[in-house]
Amino acid sequence: MDTSLYNATVSGKVLVTPDLMILQVDTDEPRGKFEAGQYLILGLYGFEKRSFNSEPESVLPEEDSLIKRPYAIASAKSEKSQLEFYISQVKSGQLTPRLFNLDIGDRLYVSDRISGIFRLDETPDGSDIIMIATGTGIAPYVSFLRSHIIERPESKMIVIQGARHRWDLGYFSELSFLEQTYANFFYVPTLTDADNHWDGYRLSVEELLKKDILQNDFNITPDPEFTHFFVCGNPDMVAHISEWLEGFGYKRHHADDPGALYIEEF
Ligand SMILES: Cc1cc2nc3c(=O)[nH]c(=O)nc-3n(C[C@H](O)[C@H](O)[C@H](O)COP(=O)(O)OP(=O)(O)OC[C@H]3O[C@@H](n4cnc5c(N)ncnc54)[C@H](O)[C@@H]3O)c2cc1C
Repeated sequence: MDTSLYNATVSGKVLVTPDLMILQVDTDEPRGKFEAGQYLILGLYGFEKRSFNSEPESVLPEEDSLIKRPYAIASAKSEKSQLEFYISQVKSGQLTPRLFNLDIGDRLYVSDRISGIFRLDETPDGSDIIMIATGTGIAPYVSFLRSHIIERPESKMIVIQGARHRWDLGYFSELSFLEQTYANFFYVPTLTDADNHWDGYRLSVEELLKKDILQNDFNITPDPEFTHFFVCGNPDMVAHISEWLEGFGYKRHHADDPGALYIEEF
């Protein structure tokens, strides 16, 4: 089998759950500079084996062509060759069951090009930053914090992450550690299907925001002049939060038309 387009090697794999993993890869050649929050393309050939717990794919890929999908980089922007991704398995999908079947030492394709305008560096210094995520939508925020938290002592930085279970919070330890270390950073996980041991919030992120958590817990009233919102994850969640923020005068950020609402849907 021809694997000539492969240009990176799996260097780490942590299964957070059977369908959620942190994947670390080493690229053969260093990648160019990137900004926290950007994404690149991962790829595997159609002939690669699927994970044991996947389901049959609805559309069969061609064996000898690369299946390619975008993934947010979770690494700090100073990394050049060691890149980290947080990936959810779509059991009937084409690429993720093949990615979940990879082991340390296996090869894959990683694009040279790194893109995206979901970037913390485009927000003004001193503005408060609210980062809202469901699922693997936390990945760009891990990169934001690893890259920038030390540079933004004047900004309140708040991550609000929605998930079903405690074990779906793949970066819980790192984000909790950051919260204890930096006085301006706050981590707010909220679970919709938590067990009795969970003493945090138990609402969806939408419900939490509509119950004025930002005003009550952090003394922040959404105002596009002072507070920038990042929203990443499930398209329904993104739509609900965008609509809610539009009520406060927010408009979506575009490269040629800046706004204080940054959106990435996966
Ligand atoms: C800019 C960008 C960044 C992204 N970053 C990440 C990331 O960091 N981590 C990550 O896990 N994914 C990320 N994605 C999604 C990723 O690109 C793939 O779409 C996803 O991994 C599914 O690929 P697949 O080939 O397995 O499924 P496909 O064969 O492409 O999809 C099969 C079907 O599943 C649906 N589907 C796609 N994603 C999901 C999902 N999450 N849950 C349920 N159904 C789904 C599709 O609509 C399609 O109908 C990102 C997408 C974009 C656009």
